Amino acid sequence: MGSKRGAFLALGFVAIAVLEEVRPLRRRVEKKSRHVLRDLTMAAMSAVATAFMQERLVGPRAEKVLAQGQGLLRQMTLPRPLRVIAGILLLDYTLWVWHWVNHRAPFLWRFHRVHHVDLDLDSWTGLRFHFGEMTLAGVVRLMQIRLIGPDAASLTIWQALLLLSIFFHHSKIALPWTVERALSAVIVTPRMHAIHHSEVREEMDSNWSSLLSVWDRLHGTFRLDVPQDAITIGVPAYLGPGEVTLPKIMVMPLRPTDGDFSRGKSGMHRAPFGEHGTPLRQ
Ligand SMILES: [Zn+2]
Repeated sequence: MGSKRGAFLALGFVAIAVLEEVRPLRRRVEKKSRHVLRDLTMAAMSAVATAFMQERLVGPRAEKVLAQGQGLLRQMTLPRPLRVIAGILLLDYTLWVWHWVNHRAPFLWRFHRVHHVDLDLDSWTGLRFHFGEMTLAGVVRLMQIRLIGPDAASLTIWQALLLLSIFFHHSKIALPWTVERALSAVIVTPRMHAIHHSEVREEMDSNWSSLLSVWDRLHGTFRLDVPQDAITIGVPAYLGPGEVTLPKIMVMPLRPTDGDFSRGKSGMHRAPFGEHGTPLRQ
């Protein structure tokens, strides 16, 4: 990653992390230091896995694939700007499919649920993925490149926008409703993604997009109709803070997924946004 791009993304993350504290959409369930430290630890392990995959597999193989002119877009004669745009669209759509499969295939859900069991949804959650999921994501990135044959520019632009989008849509920035609605016509917004993080299965099974919201609109899975104060963030079997400690989420991929959507052993049901009162904004 170029240092300029790295600095730009870091700045974007800090701005989002500050804004969400100034204008929060949800109250905290867990202590912030505990939540941030746990998410950062997971993020650090994922960063190692991602760097390893990039250096050993994705980087060198992708270079070879692109040099050999493999992939759909390499077989077509398109003007370059069109090819760059088509590459971004296809990369984003195939990521929509991958996210959907992560929820549908029990083996993949073992890893992806580690992201979903976070009891607080904010920009830090956007950094927190299990290193197993990130290792698999490296293989998927290579498959996307092999299949699509995107321009190097498509990859660079899409990856930077995607990272910023992930920080943004996981955040709890309470945007004015009109702004949220207008933005969600194009990109994934915080209220949209909070519905995807709902413990209610039918709500979780929506808003799978990561950058452009058009894919959910096309699939009829776009939702912005759930009031934020009706949402409990998490997965039914893991709604207690004792269920989502760092050691537990690290080994969570080893646990079967059968009972994930029935109440946990404690039978507990957490009121939306914990015991700290009503949410701040709709
Ligand atoms: Zn998901």
